[in-house]
Amino acid sequence: MDVLFSDPDAWGYCPYCAFVVAVDLESRQMLGHDRMGDCFITRRCYGSLMEPGVQPAPEAEPIPYEDVIANAIRSDD
Ligand SMILES: [Zn+2]
Repeated sequence: MDVLFSDPDAWGYCPYCAFVVAVDLESRQMLGHDRMGDCFITRRCYGSLMEPGVQPAPEAEPIPYEDVIANAIRSDD
């Protein structure tokens, strides 16, 4: 699959690591990507294969995993 680097449709904002990452043009899912953890350990970002979010600000902070879990538990009620 050829994707132009300058194609805006090929990129999306990942709210979980606060980076703009590559997006699959057909599925609109973010491609698998790593997230920088503590001590330079990289882990698969849990935004991988999810739909990209909207970047809230140019200098956005990543959503902590704890917040994701807390929101998921709350929405189960
Ligand atoms: Zn991510």
